[in-house]
Amino acid sequence: MKQVIGARCTLCGCSVPADPEVTVCPKCGGILDIEYDYDYIRSRLTKYELMDRTDRTMWRYMEFLPVEGIGKTPRLRVGGSPLYKADRLAAEIGLSGNLWIKDDGQNPTASLKDRASAMAVVKAEEAGKTIIACSSTGNAASSLAGNAAAAGFKTYIFVPSRAPKGKVAQLMMFGATVILVEGSYEDTFRLSAEAIDHYGWYNRNAAINPYLMEGKKTVSLEIAEQLGFEMPDYVAISVGDGCTIAGVWKGFKDLYAAGFIRTLPRLISVQAKGCCPINTAAAAHTMDWVPQEENTMADSIAVGVPRNPVKALRAIEESNGITVNVSDEEIMAAMRLLGRTQGIFAEPAGATGTAGLKKAVESGLIEKGASVVSVVTGNGLKDVANAIKAAGEPVSLPPRMDKLLEVLG
Ligand SMILES: *Cc1c(COP(=O)(O)O)cnc(C)c1O
Ligand SMILES: [Zn+2]
Repeated sequence: MKQVIGARCTLCGCSVPADPEVTVCPKCGGILDIEYDYDYIRSRLTKYELMDRTDRTMWRYMEFLPVEGIGKTPRLRVGGSPLYKADRLAAEIGLSGNLWIKDDGQNPTASLKDRASAMAVVKAEEAGKTIIACSSTGNAASSLAGNAAAAGFKTYIFVPSRAPKGKVAQLMMFGATVILVEGSYEDTFRLSAEAIDHYGWYNRNAAINPYLMEGKKTVSLEIAEQLGFEMPDYVAISVGDGCTIAGVWKGFKDLYAAGFIRTLPRLISVQAKGCCPINTAAAAHTMDWVPQEENTMADSIAVGVPRNPVKALRAIEESNGITVNVSDEEIMAAMRLLGRTQGIFAEPAGATGTAGLKKAVESGLIEKGASVVSVVTGNGLKDVANAIKAAGEPVSLPPRMDKLLEVLG
């Protein structure tokens, strides 16, 4: 893997060789960050060579990833999600600049998390493990279970008992051993960490395992390529643990360092009002975040004790980012807007980035003429109960024309 220099600790700054089994700093326990040799990447790949590739999955960006290859093991098709020009949505929220929606709910298990899980399976294989475990608010779990099932791995999954039924159904269908933890996500994470230590399973906990962010960053590589390497002014994304926004930023920074793009977008970090520890710290320009309660319908980002605050806060700061917190009502309004104006069905956390963008435009936080990509991170079918809550119930009537006429007029 000539493109990878090593893994640098985000806390003490020391550098260690990149090894799939070493997922935290051996000296201080800090989270690691994979470092690349950009001159080497540049010598191996140009924009034009990349654009000629026929592989539409996330693995088309192999030179930017910490893997040698993906072997012959069967894989799900991860990545290659559409980037839609969203003119009607832009008009509705008062944005006169270009707006695109990156619909990452169109991954195989219906969330952006597939990008991380696909990477986790490859790294587990490299580490010689056959059992992978993780704790998750739901989507990391269902995506790990699906991607592992495709490759023939066994999974142990820890989710809080509040996880929406659609996500639990996915887990059961993919044959995972599922432990529903009666407690918060924080409790769930703690139990999974103890169990992983005890049994020696491969650890797919995204904040701890630096390779997963490398998988997530492929969403940015795709956005850049889909826009012909001309960056928008802003990228809006929902934030829970913070790994996704950190991955998004890493992807853009990698492209910039390798000379593929000339400017970097500013990040719009969107959290739920009822659970916004990262945005609260970011807005105060401090790394000293404070735990919060998990008070939002957007279960995927209801993370009171974020597991990747350092990388997330640095990403927001470095990008000269903007923080926006939205209420559950604003999230539901964004779900309806995405559906009605663009035909995109998002789960609550999937629409949260768009809710934040709408609020940022309406409150004058960003210029009306700005160009923006808003990432939809998860599909609405995962959480039908909240979708109905947001969209309402249909009319219901007996199979008689007179009744229909009464209703439709
Ligand atoms: C996990 C997730 C997020 C947030 O990602 P973090 O890495 O936890 O910040 C946002 N939306 C959806 C749908 C998710 O599943
Ligand atoms: Zn360290």
